Amino acid sequence: MLPSPALGERLGEDVITLYVGTKRNKFIIHKQLICESCHFFEVAFTSSFKENLEGVMCLPEKRPEIISLFVSWLYPDRIPYHETEEHLLNMYNLHFFAEEIGEERLMDASMDAIQDEYQNLDIPISYEMLAKVYDNTTKSRLRLFAIDKFVHFQELGNLPVGRVDSRKDLAELWEITKGNFDLFYDIFTADPRFRDEWFEVDMCKYHQHGGGGCYSNARK
Ligand SMILES: [Zn+2]
Repeated sequence: MLPSPALGERLGEDVITLYVGTKRNKFIIHKQLICESCHFFEVAFTSSFKENLEGVMCLPEKRPEIISLFVSWLYPDRIPYHETEEHLLNMYNLHFFAEEIGEERLMDASMDAIQDEYQNLDIPISYEMLAKVYDNTTKSRLRLFAIDKFVHFQELGNLPVGRVDSRKDLAELWEITKGNFDLFYDIFTADPRFRDEWFEVDMCKYHQHGGGGCYSNARK
């Protein structure tokens, strides 16, 4: 896809290099674009940090496929769409990365991508993924989404525990919640009304922007 004129003006002439993962996969990115798009990188590449002096940042613990998605989002300002469970997992990892670097617009964009993937794959959220969301986020509204979706499929939330279908379900719940009180609390205080409203939810319910503008309205 060719960049739009507005994007072209944002590219600038200088580039920076990211080395990602243990194999040091190389990503060359326009400096002006990444700095204007993302405060985390603006701080690194416009300060006296060594990243700015050398134009290089190493991210050895990040996975190249996640940084690749991040770069796709930077350039066309869109996230690719694949409708596979593998891609869904990547969307979660992209979201975790977005929270880690404090990039709320990317959090919201990846949140929407997660919802789109689920809507088309038509699968429930797994116990493992629910636990992973709580392990990898702190303030993300992805937690609310994950709980809502879990409750939607499991028929939990404000209901007597006796409504859970089987001892096996409770055993799995016990496994994923016993080390995580936030998750335990959120599951058992979830609003069960959500179950009937799943397909009519306002997308911004799960966005980080609060009273600020929605990224999806600000698109070029
Ligand atoms: Zn929004």
